[in-house]
This record gives sequence, structure tokens and C-alpha cells, in this order.
Amino acid sequence: MYAQVAIEQVPGQLFTYAVPAGMEVRVGQSVTVPWRRIYHRGYVIALSEECPYVPKAEPDAQGDLFGETPAPKVKAIERIEDPLPYFSEGTITLLRWMAEYYDVGFTLALRSALPAPVREGRSQARERYVVAPILPPPPHLPPLSKRQKELYENIVRVDGGLLARLCEEFSTTAPTIRRLAKMGYLTCELREAPRSPLAGRRVLPSKPLPLTPSQAEALDVILREERPVLLFGVTGSGKTEVYMQAIAKTLEEGRDAIVLVPEISLTPQTVSRFAARFGQQVALLHSALSDGERHDEWHRIRRGQARVVVGPRSAVFAPVRRLGLIIVDEEHDTGYKQDESPRYSARDVAVMRAHIEKARCLLGSATPSLESWRNATELGKYALARLPERVGGAELPAVTLIDLREAGKPGEPLPIFSEPLIDALKGCLERGEQAILFLNRRGYAPTYQCAACGEPIKCEHCDAKLTYHAKDDTLRCHLCGRWQRPPAKCPTCGAPLFKTLGVGTQRVEQALAKILPRARVIRMDADSTGRRHSHDELLSAFRAKEADILLGTQMIAKGLDFPNVTLVGILSADRSLNIAYDFRAAERTFQLIAQVSGRAGRGVLPGQVFVQTLQPDHPAIRTACDCAYERFADDELALRRAQGLPPYTRLAALTLTGPDQAALERAAENAARALARTPGLEVLPPMPAPLERKDDLWRWQLLLKSQSSLRIARACHTLLPPDDRISGPIKALLDIDAVFLA
Ligand code: ADP
Ligand code: ZN
Repeated sequence: MYAQVAIEQVPGQLFTYAVPAGMEVRVGQSVTVPWRRIYHRGYVIALSEECPYVPKAEPDAQGDLFGETPAPKVKAIERIEDPLPYFSEGTITLLRWMAEYYDVGFTLALRSALPAPVREGRSQARERYVVAPILPPPPHLPPLSKRQKELYENIVRVDGGLLARLCEEFSTTAPTIRRLAKMGYLTCELREAPRSPLAGRRVLPSKPLPLTPSQAEALDVILREERPVLLFGVTGSGKTEVYMQAIAKTLEEGRDAIVLVPEISLTPQTVSRFAARFGQQVALLHSALSDGERHDEWHRIRRGQARVVVGPRSAVFAPVRRLGLIIVDEEHDTGYKQDESPRYSARDVAVMRAHIEKARCLLGSATPSLESWRNATELGKYALARLPERVGGAELPAVTLIDLREAGKPGEPLPIFSEPLIDALKGCLERGEQAILFLNRRGYAPTYQCAACGEPIKCEHCDAKLTYHAKDDTLRCHLCGRWQRPPAKCPTCGAPLFKTLGVGTQRVEQALAKILPRARVIRMDADSTGRRHSHDELLSAFRAKEADILLGTQMIAKGLDFPNVTLVGILSADRSLNIAYDFRAAERTFQLIAQVSGRAGRGVLPGQVFVQTLQPDHPAIRTACDCAYERFADDELALRRAQGLPPYTRLAALTLTGPDQAALERAAENAARALARTPGLEVLPPMPAPLERKDDLWRWQLLLKSQSSLRIARACHTLLPPDDRISGPIKALLDIDAVFLA
């Protein structure tokens, strides 16, 4: 018996090993194999009776004593790491498909299916100290000092937990807590505790709600259909309840479920809704978990101890035993596209995995991607279920469109806030309600320019203007992350005066402080949410009404449900509309307005939305303000069809990067000429990428169109196999079904 083994550290090919007699190897197992005199971890991808490979003699074994070449020998698997496989046959089929479809090496595809702490076999499950308060405290205990009392009360409040975590949370030491245990207030015991992110969180169990007629119908479609189902439901229409009942049904059938959510909406709130319904059966896979937690959650799933997996895009590979259902929530979200190789779309991988494992697939959104919408309407590849109304008759918010061109005074810069929005904000705060303000740009001002010659200050390493951050008086490049102090003199003309142009979230924060000095504002953007928990902390504070206004970038655009929010302001709806090279700009803008306005009026209070724009007549903005998705989709699809753009064609981007501009241009033209020979493939003329320079490297781009992505992948594979693309000074990156054309 022979095994094909993928060795993570040696990508590029699979290796053949002999299975020693008596060793029971199965496909998907993790094994240890020798490779060049070092033992490596590998995964068994296939088994065969015949040896599929004729080994070459090892060069260093040549020329033995008798001057003959020794008979080459296939090496043997050293040992099986774990009898329970890491991958099912279905997952291996899926990874093979992925490797071919996205044109990456198999081993790289496999890598994306394993969280780093699992791959590295780090953090073995181990015993840990668990602290629990004894309640009520037994009588006649020795008295506590003031600090001990405070600590004890804190531990009671959080209902105990892991010793290490409590020490961290309450800035104390293990001996201090142990002393409380010795005194009789607590127990502190060694237990084999899987490090579960949900452990120690108290969640009230929830029961299935009686479904509304449209929810019941949607559930029926989901359970009946063999095709993937697109669940088109406005925000607040009860999609999550439908998800949970579909999951419950799947569990009853003895099968497991995966729920993909955008990274950004993986809030404790989302997670606890699933935990409340399915308790300990829920596993959470999330990059913000500690290594130990990720490691343990993944193995809990593999062992069948957790049967509902909630996580971001990489959870699509979760090692559930018998997949019965995959849900992709907010299926239109661009976060499902991985931005490094393999550049897979988790939504598309989910559809494929469900197909391979004969599981149900459910895509949900209030603003479906045009790809999915077309599949569900024109093509009938998906079934369509609708939830046209909010649950409990809550109205969708009234949307007011404000023409910013008329809001300012002639000759003055555009105002950040129009009068109607300021009035509405004041009214909202007076009533004790909350508001969300949205601006898709962080920093203080996106342009820092010379007041004399008008030249903006640019990054020396990228094709990007630097953003001014007032808080620490820096100019930052949002592309490469480099920062510098503002220069004393203009590098172009030498004048010593600068002005800032444009508006970022920090500047809005400052302006708010002037207009509404008493308003408590939480700002949330990539600059304010650095630490591991601060994203959650900021949201919890806002939920607990510790602030009146939540101000942020797209981070706050989706998934949040705050019943007390009655006002949403989009400060500039144009920002995403004007990206000339992004043919999906209108779609993004529609989604953004619809999703952001979906935050208002989720509770019993009615909601109000203000959209400030310089282009009030743009169809995407108009239809979004009317919440008219279908009208938008019809018009936009007609445009795309006329222009030969996705979803009517497949589009891939081949980006070449290199230090020498002329050599790069030549390489791009050669590649274009070679690819153009493929039948059924349209190659657009090579051009500098929209981001012409990043991190000191030049970038050129070729756009490739075809009816089949596989044809594109194969043509590129023939031109340049994936492993050769990243060697040499010029590197090539292939992005199949490209989403970001930067
Ligand atoms: P969506 O996921 O579509 O945005 P949610 O599932 O969050 O909508 O539902 C919005 C609100 O309506 C939630 O508070 C939810 O608990 C409630 N809800 C959903 N379905 C029902 C139902 N059948 N009966 C009563 N309340 C419901
Ligand atoms: Zn830069």
C-alpha cells in the first residue's frame, strides 16, 4: 500500500510513501514522514495499491562501496499522529477543486483549511486551574481585607472561570486568588478544560420562536430544495431565526451545520444568539481567539463534540463529521474573498462544499450580490426565498436624501453636517435615543497639501496620498502603514504652509464636539480598535448607553442590532461611488446605504436615516434610499450585460509586480500576448494597476475575461505554473473572480 502525502513545509507537489505492514493508514490522517533526513508533519491525501511513482536514486546515496547505484527505495511513513482523520474525503475533493479553480498548489489550498495553531500542532490540550465561587459563602469564614473583598466580588460577578484569565482580567496574581480558596470563599481546581471561547459566558437559553408565515415558507423551501437557496430578506426580517430553525432540523437528522458570518459581525451578540439556542454544541472559529482556543475548538469539531460551527470565511473548511447545512450570512460581503493566495471566495467554496457533501446551502442577505441574484432569478441555479417585511411590523426607516451641494455656503468648503442632520441629531439626543454616524474614511483629513503650490504630500513608497492624523500629528500611508511627521516645508516648492483637505472620522469627531459639546461619542475605526477586545468593548459600551453617538467606518455598517438607535447619518455616500476602476462601485454603494440604514429603528422606536451626497440623482443612491433592491438589481444587471461585465462573464486579474518599471511592462505585454492565444479567453490590454506603486514595487495588471473561470486558471497555469510565479524579480498574482481591482 502506498500513500500520497502533502507535506505542509514542502509545497509544490505530493510525495509518495510506503505504508508499513500492520499500519492502518486512512485518507485524511495526519502522519509523520521523513523528508531529506528530517521528520515532517504531512497529511494523507490518497491511498493506492500500486506505487504511483518511480523514485530516483538519492544523490547522496550514490557511489557505495561496490560502485553500483543502489536500488531506489520509497521511504515509509514513520507514524500516524492521530487515528481520527483531519480531513474527510469530501474536504480533500473540495481542496482539489480549489487548487485547480484558483490555480494554486494543492498544499497551499490545504494550508488554508487548517488554522495555524492546528497546523503547527501548538498548544496541546492541557489541564488548567478553574476557579468557582462558593455561593452563598459558608458562615464563619475569616474576614477579607478591602482588596481581597473587591477581588472576591469581581469573581462572583463573572461567576469564576479560568485562573489565568481571572488574573489577567482583574490584574492580580494566582497566589492571591488561591489564598481566597484556602480561606474557603472559592474552589480552585485542576481540570482538563478545553479552552472554549464560550466557557464562562452566561447565556440564557432561547427557544424556537413561532415563525411568521413568510419565515415558515422560507424554511420550507430550504428543507425541500436540493439547490442552494438564496434567502432575500430585508434587515430585521428574521433571517437569523430561520437559520436557527434550519440548523435545528439538520441536527435532528444527525448532521452538522456551519454558519459563516462576516468577520466584522462576529460580535459577542451574534455568537450568543447561536449559543443561546444550541449551547455547548456551538464551536466558534475566529481569528481573534487565542491560539489555544482555536486549537481546542477545531479539535472539538473534529471529534464531533461541537456540531454547529460559527465563524468567518475560513470556517467553511471546519472539520465537521457529517455536513448537513452551510449558511452564508450576508453573502454579498466582500470580506468572504480572501485577499491573499489562495484568493478564494468563501461563499463559492461553501456552495461547492455543500454540493460535494450533498448538504443544504443557504445564502442570506438583504442586498444579495448580483452574482447570486442572477443565479436565483435569471438562471434558476439557486432557489429564491423572500422575507419582505420586518418582524413585528417594524417599519423600514424613512430615508432623507440631502444634496450636499446645496447645504454649504458658496465659496466655502462643503459642510460636514447639513442643517437637517444637525437638527435631527439634537432631537435624537434630547429624547435620550442614540445615533450612528458613518464615514468611510479614517484619519483626520485624507489630503495634506501645500497651501502655496497645492501639491499633496504623497507616500514615497506607494502611489497614495498621505492621510493626516491630528491626534498624534502624523501623516500616515494607509497602504503600507508607514508614517512620518508633517514636513516643515513643501517638498515641491519649499513653502512653509500647509492645509488639510477632506474629512476623516477624527475630524468629524472634532466637529461633533463643537456642534454638540455634551454628546458622548465613541469613534470606531481601524485606529481606535487596535487591541484584541476593544472592538467588542466599544460596542458593549455603546449598547450599555455609555455614549450617545457611534461614529465609524464600514466597521459599523453591518450586523449590529441596537434597539435604542433611531438615527443613522451617512456623511458622504459618494466616497465609494467614485472609484472609477471598480465596476462594482454602484453595487457597493447600494449595499452600504441599505445596510447602514438597516441599523435604524430595529426596536420599537421608529428610525430615521439621512444620506448626504453630492450625487442625489445617481440611480444606486436613489434606489437605496427607496429600499428598492430589485429595481436596483434589474437596472444594474442590464448595464453589466451591455458592458460584458460580471456576472455575465468571469473576470480575473493577473497582477505583475516588480522593481523595474520597463521590465514589468515588457513582461505584462508578453504575458498578454501568450494568453491571448487561448480560445475563449479575452485579454484586455495590460495597464498599470489602479494602485500603480505599492511598497516600492510597481504594479501592472491584466484583466482576463471568459465564460469559465477554469479556462482562465488553466491558461495561466500553462503560461506559468503557480510555484514559478513568485520567483524572480517579477512576481505574478492571479486573482480568479476578482473582487477588488486595486
Ligand atoms: P435579520 O437577521 O433578518 O436581520 P433578525 O433575525 O435579527 O433579523 O430578527 C430581527 C428581530 O426579530 C430579532 O430581535 C428577532 O429576535 C425577532 N424575531 C425574528 N423572528 C421572530 C418571530 N418569528 N417572532 C418574533 N420575533 C422574531
Ligand atoms: Zn506607503
